[in-house]
Amino acid sequence: MNELAIRQSIIDHCRAMNASGLNQGTSGNISVRFGERMLITPSGIPYDTMTPEMIASLPLSGDGDYDGPKKPSVEWPFHLAIQKARPDVGAVVHTHSTFATILAIARKPIPACHYMVAAFGGSDVRVADYARYGTTDLSDNIIRAMDGRSACLMANHGMIATGATLEKAMWAAVELETLAKQYYHALLIGNPVILPDAEIAGVLKGFATYGLQDGKGGKAA
Ligand code: 13P
Ligand code: ZN
Repeated sequence: MNELAIRQSIIDHCRAMNASGLNQGTSGNISVRFGERMLITPSGIPYDTMTPEMIASLPLSGDGDYDGPKKPSVEWPFHLAIQKARPDVGAVVHTHSTFATILAIARKPIPACHYMVAAFGGSDVRVADYARYGTTDLSDNIIRAMDGRSACLMANHGMIATGATLEKAMWAAVELETLAKQYYHALLIGNPVILPDAEIAGVLKGFATYGLQDGKGGKAA
């Protein structure tokens, strides 16, 4: 994809995440890796009025100023920290989605209450400790919470989901909010049963080939 197409795709995904109810208002932000640079939504601009040239561009090295007519998202430090620390990450989606944020306010990590927890790399999704938005403390807390994981909740704030592509990161954000909603309701009726680590290890093995189609036919499983 060329740079203009990526910029447009970031805006399209922002609009879709608000239209679906995953996010609201000007909360949340999205970044995509582009060579040695990171493209990221501008700060505080309603997604309906956002145009491709408003997307800010920053060097991934962290050295040097941003390019663009608008300031980058206040959360550019954690987007940059994740993309620097994790070469497998091509896109980062941050939302204030309701159920993930409720669990994050209650400081409740999501355990293996459903096998889909493995989609985030292990047997839980952790809560990053609270630090104020935009700070290096917040970036450090997020990097720690995401050790061996592709997502995390953020105490008293929201959630982050990542992926190799923006489509995959947005898929992960929707799955994480769904998991948070399921766990929240399971807590309400009480006594959720948590899957053992060995089961999640098996699911992780299965996920390595899940959805991969070789098109040659053969055994179904
Ligand atoms: P920005 O509009 O600067 O991206 O801030 C939104 C947000 O979610 C801050 O955490
Ligand atoms: Zn936020």
